[in-house]
Amino acid sequence: MNTKDKYPLLEINLNKIYENAKIIVDKCREKGISVSGIIKGVNGMDSVAKEFARAGCAHIASSRLEQLTQLKEKDFKIRTMLIRLPMESEIEELVKFADISLNSEWQTIELIEKACEKEKKQHGVVLMYDVGDLREGFVSRKELIDQALHIENNLKYVKLMGIGTNLSCYGSVKPTSENLNKVTELADTIRELIGRKLEIVSGGGTTSLPLLFNGDMPSGINHLRIGEAMLVNRDLPDLWGTKVTGMHQDAFILKAQIIEIKDKPTYPIGELYLDAFGNKPIYEDRGVRRKALLAVGKQDFMQEDRLIPCDEGVEIVGGSSDHLIVDIEDSEQEFKIGDVIQFYMYYSPMLYLCSSRWVKKKFV
Ligand SMILES: *Cc1c(COP(=O)(O)O)cnc(C)c1O
Repeated sequence: MNTKDKYPLLEINLNKIYENAKIIVDKCREKGISVSGIIKGVNGMDSVAKEFARAGCAHIASSRLEQLTQLKEKDFKIRTMLIRLPMESEIEELVKFADISLNSEWQTIELIEKACEKEKKQHGVVLMYDVGDLREGFVSRKELIDQALHIENNLKYVKLMGIGTNLSCYGSVKPTSENLNKVTELADTIRELIGRKLEIVSGGGTTSLPLLFNGDMPSGINHLRIGEAMLVNRDLPDLWGTKVTGMHQDAFILKAQIIEIKDKPTYPIGELYLDAFGNKPIYEDRGVRRKALLAVGKQDFMQEDRLIPCDEGVEIVGGSSDHLIVDIEDSEQEFKIGDVIQFYMYYSPMLYLCSSRWVKKKFV
């Protein structure tokens, strides 16, 4: 064991992120699709943004403007995209540090135009079309077209970059060729009205990739916004049945140190009421098992059931803010105090771990 490491430690393999991004970007390019690399899940880490850019992403994007500002201040040359609708309070910063943003409100777009005029700068706008997931975007096709024409004909600094949609977030609606065709049809209509092709017809995020790999992506989609698949890459193989050869699932590894090992019952002793978070969990009585207590907790990863022990003989039992309890009875390793147990993870623990100041980060 490397005695210099401090724990809990999140080990981030930049080369694996690069390789994941390269596979996705190349596959997209084959189909005439450009990719925005989404860095919100890694707290905007510039080292990850660098790998996305190196792999050929057309833009670096985040829902948090501060993360884009940070990149521009470090003199990143790549174009940046804000993928959450801009707040009124961030419009000035938006035009300074983001080249493109997703939008659905005319008031906001007017404010962007004004701020651009002050800065003597252009800003690209992608109008969002809500085809059913019910988060951001115009529901009315006509309203979106009117807004597109208004930008095209009346605004000087705001440029109509394109249109886009978002799926499988609030409404859990699956991207399909049917709902994405609504977007490409609308793009065709706008193209005819303005007499030029839209640079961006954005068909969603990671969950739209199965369509691409199955050959069902409508040909009018020319842009995707990808984070998860290029980072932890759990959604496609584990949840969507789309396994892509050469893609890594171990670019992020959580390492936590053992602070107690004891044989303990699996069913709590005493009158059961509430746990540390006010829940009433259900416990299964599996007799006495060998358990290890790790110095890492929900404050660091929020959902322990979204962590995956690297050792198949280790099982996650539960946790609280600052502790994780694992069952090591079936492991072939002889664990002792001070040993380190490792975990792969889904997107949400990655998000929390990357933004926690208490979790050390190590790039390998
Ligand atoms: C987060 C986000 C994405 C990227 O999602 P992934 O699942 O990480 O690929 C794309 N578009 C919008 C609007 C988002 O907020």
